[in-house]
Amino acid sequence: MTWLAHSLVEDLELQRFDQQADRIEQAIRDRMAAYEQVLRGGQGLFASGLPISRQAFRRYVAQLALSTHYPGIQGVGYAVMLQPDRVNAFEARLRQEGFAEFSVHPSGERSVYSAIEYLEPFDWRNRRAFGFDMYSEPTRREAMQRAIDTGTSALSGRVVLVQETGNDTQAGFLMYLPVYRNGDNPSTAEERREQIQGFVYSPFRAADLMRGIVGVRPQVDFAVFDGPDAAVEHLLYRSFDAPSDGTRRSDHQERRLIDVAGRTWHLQLNSSAQIRSIVESNLSAAVLIGGLLLSALLYLLVDSMANGRVKAQRLADAMTMDLRRSEAEKSRLNDELHRSNAELEQFAHVASHDLQTPLRTVGSYTQLLLRRLGDNSDPDIQEFGAFIVSGVHRMQALIQDLLEYARLDGESGPKRAVPLQQLVERCAQDLEADISDAGIELEIGPLPVVLGDPGQLERVFSNLLSNAVKYRNAPRPKIEVRAKTGKNACTQIEVRDNGIGIGADESPKLFKMFSRLHDQSQYPGTGMGLAICKRIISQHQGEIWVEPNPGGGSRFCLTLPLAQDALPTNG
Ligand code: ADP
Repeated sequence: MTWLAHSLVEDLELQRFDQQADRIEQAIRDRMAAYEQVLRGGQGLFASGLPISRQAFRRYVAQLALSTHYPGIQGVGYAVMLQPDRVNAFEARLRQEGFAEFSVHPSGERSVYSAIEYLEPFDWRNRRAFGFDMYSEPTRREAMQRAIDTGTSALSGRVVLVQETGNDTQAGFLMYLPVYRNGDNPSTAEERREQIQGFVYSPFRAADLMRGIVGVRPQVDFAVFDGPDAAVEHLLYRSFDAPSDGTRRSDHQERRLIDVAGRTWHLQLNSSAQIRSIVESNLSAAVLIGGLLLSALLYLLVDSMANGRVKAQRLADAMTMDLRRSEAEKSRLNDELHRSNAELEQFAHVASHDLQTPLRTVGSYTQLLLRRLGDNSDPDIQEFGAFIVSGVHRMQALIQDLLEYARLDGESGPKRAVPLQQLVERCAQDLEADISDAGIELEIGPLPVVLGDPGQLERVFSNLLSNAVKYRNAPRPKIEVRAKTGKNACTQIEVRDNGIGIGADESPKLFKMFSRLHDQSQYPGTGMGLAICKRIISQHQGEIWVEPNPGGGSRFCLTLPLAQDALPTNG
């Protein structure tokens, strides 16, 4: 595969990974919030003050249809808090109800007890928990105490549920909601401890739950740990077979922390082979960025370039084979290689023209049609037409940017001394109308003379400045372009703004093709500008990155080689 196709696959793979990672995180959050709602319903039942019978509780849980609507939840239960002097009477009442063997367990002397009184569905697995004193076990007790003190839902740490049989044992956890006497939620922690009556709660088997949430074969491999650390002893679930330390390396990896009912979960996400194969097999579909037409055009473009590269590669191979041949023969092959590259360059121009022409036709005729239909036509038609026209403009911009990115492949042209001060001022001049309309305060330099390709460097600074203008939001927008002395005869240039800014974890992605943080309708763009900047700066043996600006906004930094006889004018 050529660099372009390869780079597309990489970018699309990263995008798909991010999408899938977001989907998994969101699905877990949504599902856990839904479970909390289920418990709130149960809490409402007790708070209503009506006498609750086993029958009524069973009906409540049955109508939730847990296994259909909430897969992974092991049940919904109610556990009562008991002072030691009430345990015997409680056991006697339950035995009278028909559970002759009932006992609060584990046995032993404790200052306070709890007991699972209801747990639906009352199947063989859940019966194992009937009468269990969860308050006697430290991990469960911590969550129960938290629920009592905060008056809200509390998730426990990792446990093995008493429902487990030793067969297919899974990690588990529980969610508790407190029920206070008289149906109130007292206002202080002290009153809450005094008035606690019991808990509506749910036990979860982690693997069943996660499979229910994301399916058995998610496109992204992931693991969920209880607490902020990815330690094996805290592992709740993982969707892949992992080495013994529970972690794994892959091309793309991300960790996210999720808060679930007052407890932190560490979500570790890894790209999977499945995702790459989906991306590769869907390459042309994934390239459907600007619509079906653009997809076809891009495919053609990528494919033709691939052929061009393969041709060049073959020639280079042939050249290696013929090294021992005469100088004349070598230079003939060299000429052919240059011709092939020139053809490729030519192709880029032709493609740009040929792809743009039909697009322009679509755009112009749509506009003509809309004008013909006039203002009295169906407003839907006007709106759809406007969508087509803006889609066409976006495709045109994308094709331009893609071709420009393509042309930056390979060796860059000869470098010369470029006075950056004048170059950046020229770029600012081109943006003058926007800058003065928005009342932006702009400070440039002093900037040194660097070694580079002036056309390419102009592209970089135009893009950084126009982004700083576009992504402004302060009442007094300000943009500064400054130089600092760098190491090894390099200079570091910074373009700072006080605009909407960029989150620290988002910054590495921004320099990838098509990477955008904002919606097209909010801030139009192609997501190619920074990818082009990165390619140009790499060809100047420099680096480019972005950091949050200490006073707000963002700070794009780049390094460039200094022209030998020109040192920076400030430090
Ligand atoms: P475009 O601006 O065409 O979307 P770029 O590659 O130039 O594409 O920028 C990529 C993304 O980086 C933008 O969509 C935007 O989300 C973010 N970005 C770039 N420059 C800035 C900036 N100065 N302030 C805040 N966000 C920025």
